[in-house]
Amino acid sequence: MREHTADRTDTPAPAELRGDCGSCFGLCCVALPFARSADFAVDKDAGTPCANLRTDHRCGIHATLRERGFSGCTVYDCFGAGQRVSQVTFGGVDWRGGPPERGRGMFDVFPVVRQLHELLWYLTEALTLPAARPLHADLRRTLADTERLAGGTPGELAALDVAAHRQRVNVLLLRTSELVRAGARGRKKNRRNADLMGARLRGADLAGADLRGAYLIAADLTGADLRGADLIGADLRDAELTDADLTGAFFLTQPQVNAARGGPGTRLPDSVTRPVHWTAGG
Ligand code: SF4
Repeated sequence: MREHTADRTDTPAPAELRGDCGSCFGLCCVALPFARSADFAVDKDAGTPCANLRTDHRCGIHATLRERGFSGCTVYDCFGAGQRVSQVTFGGVDWRGGPPERGRGMFDVFPVVRQLHELLWYLTEALTLPAARPLHADLRRTLADTERLAGGTPGELAALDVAAHRQRVNVLLLRTSELVRAGARGRKKNRRNADLMGARLRGADLAGADLRGAYLIAADLTGADLRGADLIGADLRDAELTDADLTGAFFLTQPQVNAARGGPGTRLPDSVTRPVHWTAGG
């Protein structure tokens, strides 16, 4: 969470869809709940500041998050929701020192805006995919709708049925996926929502596959061919991507990549960057 994006090299995603911790009031470190697990060393309720969050909204253990049991923080990205809620929705007025309801308002709308920003990420990427050209007008319209919703007032955002909007966007993203994958070579396997936890997929041919929502936790994808695969919502925590080829894979986000394992031989699409911990022994 706090500051981990500063470790990255440049990414082609628009700046407003990348977390800018320096412009945020530490919202992810307060608004979100943690459950004690391999990703978080402690339990924390939603709306309660993490004990490691300093008063300047920086993380007090940023340099040693993984060693201290907070690897979940190094994986997370808000897609730019934090700076929007802090600087735009709430006009740059800090929750610290203010009335409790201001803080509660920020913490309540942050997850809503985060979901909308994630949708903006997918829609922005869809508009870069040449095979999706027949849908570009619809994609642009939906992008504008989503942007308008994300720019709502605190009250409008709190009342928004974000799940219903997600569903509408998803219909369009599914059509995009079909167009893009139709151009991929091979059998284009359907593994949508498949339970592939711990699966041995070393060297597997998954080019152009539909891996939407697939559970690939700790799957061995060493050397797998994932070119042109749809990876939206696939759970890649601890998936082994060493020497895998993800060139042209789409709807893959930085948090998914951050949660996986990989190395210098992993080929990634241009939409994401290589996590620093892949080369730092993490
Ligand atoms: S450990 Fe650091 S990055 Fe993680 S929630 Fe706490 S303050 Fe934020």
